[in-house]
Amino acid sequence: MKKFWGILFITIALFSCKEDQTAIANETNNEIAKIHVIEKPVVIKFGFNLDEFTVQHDTVRNGDSFGELMLENNVDYPKIAKISKEFKDTFDVRRIRVGKPYMILKSKDTSQTAQIFIYENDVINYTVIDLRDSIVAYTDKKEVKYVEREASGVIETSLSEAILNQGIDYNVTNNLSEIYAWTIDFFRLQKGDKFKVIYKEKFINDSIYAGAEPIEAAYFEHNGRPIYAFAYENDSLKNIVDYFDEEANNLRRTFLRAPVQFSRISSRYNLKRRIRYYGNRIRPHKGTDYAAPVGTPIMATADGTVTESTRKGGNGKYVKIRHNGTYSTQYLHMKKQKVKRGEFVRQGDVIGWIGMTGNTSGPHVCYRFWRNGRQVDPLREELPKAEPLAETLQPKYFDYITPVKDQLDCMLYTENPVEEDEDLLTLNK
Ligand SMILES: [Zn+2]
Repeated sequence: MKKFWGILFITIALFSCKEDQTAIANETNNEIAKIHVIEKPVVIKFGFNLDEFTVQHDTVRNGDSFGELMLENNVDYPKIAKISKEFKDTFDVRRIRVGKPYMILKSKDTSQTAQIFIYENDVINYTVIDLRDSIVAYTDKKEVKYVEREASGVIETSLSEAILNQGIDYNVTNNLSEIYAWTIDFFRLQKGDKFKVIYKEKFINDSIYAGAEPIEAAYFEHNGRPIYAFAYENDSLKNIVDYFDEEANNLRRTFLRAPVQFSRISSRYNLKRRIRYYGNRIRPHKGTDYAAPVGTPIMATADGTVTESTRKGGNGKYVKIRHNGTYSTQYLHMKKQKVKRGEFVRQGDVIGWIGMTGNTSGPHVCYRFWRNGRQVDPLREELPKAEPLAETLQPKYFDYITPVKDQLDCMLYTENPVEEDEDLLTLNK
């Protein structure tokens, strides 16, 4: 997907519909600017006053072990053994990874004994082993600040490397492509297609960028057709967040586009396929082949009941699922199935793994799509939509999206000048 996003012209838009647009933009700018400026020496870190200790700041190197780091700092062996045994759930000493930062706070006396060990699991989470008195181990989080961002873009024909460095996290574009995967064919983006997104960026200790949160709202105009997307909790019990349009329709479809993530289509549905091996005769291919390494999980593309999980001739090991009275899907050449006949599966459930059983020249899954008992090309089908937002949730949903939609509508695109408008050029001078 990355290369398709490469052709996007991406800009951060800091505009607002409000009248005091400049003031707001400045305010936002200042806020973001401030985050980068404040970098005073911090005395309290991870909840400890560093002045009270001798501080050793380092990263785990090849060959380092927790035990050795502790022994070097005068912690005796029984204590180390106790930590590795009793605090496994909080801190598994065998799990320390090369390159991860850690800090040892030592006593300021001549013994320089390690008193606190702090291991950074990732940019936000860290584990503290307090070796003073009785040993205490716990995991905590750094303070995270969320800053709302707006971004927009217009798709251009040519790619400029600089575009990728406009300050938008790659995850945002990736996320955007996931949201619209059901409604927009990203292989067929057009010049002039536009998008807008609202999301939050995370900052740790007010200064360190720690990634982007999932998109909260988006707008995509493909071929002149606008599609809104608002993140909303569909099922609070299961914590399921889906994206809905301005009429509360789900942007998902009942079927996933592909049964394998990160795969490539090695052979499409083709009724006129000729194969040299068979004397160039027509051998229709009624499936879509997704190539991926052996062992890659294969997912059910929709909810349904497993009607077959068996091994048969050229199909090798396969699974067939009946979704409803109209649709069934089948997944061939598996290394191994994960489901049995009669089992109910949900969309996205792993039902087996990519293999080479049956007639196949390389590892792939042959995905077959049945409508009313006939095999059709799922990539050309208008697939049924997923259920809209439950009616009971809709009033609250509309209340929620009204201001968000206004915000999206008010965002401006920063486009490259397309036409040479002389009046405009004069005005700008
Ligand atoms: Zn096939």
